[in-house]
Formats: sequence, structure tokens, C-alpha cells
Amino acid sequence: MSTIWVLGAGQLGAMLKHAATPLGLDVRPVDIESTDTLPLSADDIVTAEREEWPKTNATEQLATHSNFVNLSTFPQLADRLTQKKWLDKLELATAPWFPIEQDSTSNHCYNTLGEKVLLKRRRGGYDGKGQFWLKQSEGTQVPEDWKGHAIAEQAINFDEEVSLVGVRGKNGESFFYPLTLNLHINGILYASIAPLDRLTHLQTKAEAMLSKLMEALDYVGVMAMECFRLGDDLLINELAPRVHNSGHWTQAGASVNQFENHIRAVAGLPLAKAEVKNLSMMVNLIGVPVNYDWLSTEGLELYWYNKSVRPGRKVGHINMCSGHIDKLNTALTELDAQLPEPYQEAIKWLKANLP
Ligand code: ATP
Ligand code: MG
Ligand code: MG
Repeated sequence: MSTIWVLGAGQLGAMLKHAATPLGLDVRPVDIESTDTLPLSADDIVTAEREEWPKTNATEQLATHSNFVNLSTFPQLADRLTQKKWLDKLELATAPWFPIEQDSTSNHCYNTLGEKVLLKRRRGGYDGKGQFWLKQSEGTQVPEDWKGHAIAEQAINFDEEVSLVGVRGKNGESFFYPLTLNLHINGILYASIAPLDRLTHLQTKAEAMLSKLMEALDYVGVMAMECFRLGDDLLINELAPRVHNSGHWTQAGASVNQFENHIRAVAGLPLAKAEVKNLSMMVNLIGVPVNYDWLSTEGLELYWYNKSVRPGRKVGHINMCSGHIDKLNTALTELDAQLPEPYQEAIKWLKANLP
């Protein structure tokens, strides 16, 4: 088997490599700043764990390889402007929006989208970074350096946030995990839970939306669709052409996790419907130091990324999967005592969503 190169060497790259190991596949994440000359062969495969990258020695070698899967999709989804245009073109529901141009005024934003408007940088935003709220009541103005580099979005008063992770193979067949319910605090994902019976009636609709996109882009691999749920309607918030944080629970809760599925797809290996084992929960570790006492909780699975801990930085996650709701509840109570603010909110939310 040829080598599978991953552009980017963060936690997603590491987990792709980890998932491919039992299959005997050679997956090599590459740091974008690497100055090494990579021993690329013509029949190797290239994928990415990030949506965009600077031009470096490493990225140039990978991005010019003829087997870079989805190469043309990345720039289209990495820019929120072209991503939103795709959604509109495919008539997929998304938050009302328009581009912020040099002559865009805050009044135009308020008149068109309402008294609260969210500006989002076109590129590079993640974990809620690259967002700016315009509030008419406070007379907020469009910052000069956002003009030409952002889109304006209507503030959506959603009921909750859900996401769908799907995988599409080279032959066009696709499979999906159950919808995941997500909690974001200050724009950053804190916790996920799946599957939930109360969301199953939205599954077909969500799959049709993501299928339409993956088909239109002739996409191969795992893609995630983040949505706002308003009653029985789904509005697409954003898309990620890669494995996604809201799919991390599949490491504990599915026979084939999202990382293995992505590798299978880009390598042209068979895909199959993943067996979902039980109820899963994921808690992101954000800006907290590792505490190996967490491991004394029954059923807890820790992924620690070995990154330096900084406030607001994702440094690991915890997964749990069980058919016993009382065990999940107990685990959450134990975690509650071991994690700082604002985890109490996240744990309360998870408990409230246990069936
Ligand atoms: P990610 O880390 O998921 O890539 P991001 O920085 O790219 O995040 P978004 O997903 O667009 O940004 O937004 C982050 C969060 O901000 C959303 O999950 C949601 O909680 C909130 N948000 C985004 N857009 C809106 C909106 N139009 N109205 C209300 N809340 C929003
Ligand atoms: Mg994003
Ligand atoms: Mg998001």
C-alpha cells in the first residue's frame, strides 16, 4: 500500500494516523512548517487535516502531488464567501448573509439582517475566533480592517446546534453517523452527545443536505455539516471538509470511527455503515492541564494531544460510551468535581440531555 500523507500535524492528523494503524496503513502527518524534502511517490495519496495552509516547503510538495484528494474543494470551503455561495447555489438553507465590502455600512447590516449581526472573517476563523458582533443598540460600526475580508450573518435564535458527519467514497456511496447534539460556549465546542432519539426524525433531512453538497463537490472522505436547529428546520452554519471535533465521539461509540472512515475513503478501501454502539458523550479539554486522575472514572477514554496548555486552546478530549445511563451520569458527576469553570455548565447540559 502506498503512503498516505496528511497536510498538517495537529491532533486531527495524529488521530488519523492512530486510526489507520490497525489497518496496517502508513499514514504520515506533515507539519506545515517542515523544510524536509518528503519522499513522495507517484502512487502515494495526500489528504489534509486543515482547510487552508500557507505556502511552505512542505505544503508545496504535498499540494502539487497529483493524488491530493479534494484539492479543488479546500479553497472553495475555506473561504466563507465561496462556501456560502455554494450553499445558496444548491438551495441549502443557511443563515441569511451578504459579503462585507469596502463600502458596507453598519446601517446596511442592521437594515438588511436585523439589530444583531455577526461578522465572520472569510478566512482562518475557528473556535469562534474571527467573529465580531454588531449591535444596533450599542451603535457598533463595521471595523475598517474587516471590510473586504468578512461576511455579515443574521443572528440566529436557534433551539440548539447539531452536526452531521458523513463519509463519501470514490464510487460515490456515502454513509453517515447519527446527528450529534453540540454545546458551544463563547463560540467554542465544549461537549457533544449522540445519538439521541429525539433527533432521529431530522436524520433523513440532514443526510439529504450533506449528500447534495458532497455530490456537487464530488467529495471523497469525511465532511462535517454544522447546523442550527429551529424547530424541525435545519439551517447550515458551516461546513468542514475534514474530520471534525463533533465526530470525536465515534472513537468510543462506533465500530468504525470518523478517522478510519476518512482514511478508508481517500485510500479507496471499502466503506460500510458503522455500527453505533451506545450513547456517547464527548467533552473537549480546553485550556486545562492534564489530570490523570480522570482515568479512574469507569468507562472514560482520554485523548491528550500533548500541546502546551493555553487559555481557550483545545488540548484534549474525553469520550464515554455506555448503554447504562446511570454510569454516564456518575462519570459526569466525577468529572464535575475535577474540572474548572465553565465545565459545570457543559456537564449540566450533558446530564440534561441524557435520555
Ligand atoms: P469552528 O471551531 O466550529 O470551526 P468557527 O470559528 O468557524 O467555529 P462558527 O462555527 O461559524 O465559527 O461559529 C461558532 C459558533 O458561534 C457557532 O457554533 C454558534 O454557537 C455561534 N454562531 C455562529 N454563527 C451564528 C449566528 N449566525 N447566529 C448565532 N450564533 C452563531
Ligand atoms: Mg469553522
Ligand atoms: Mg463551527
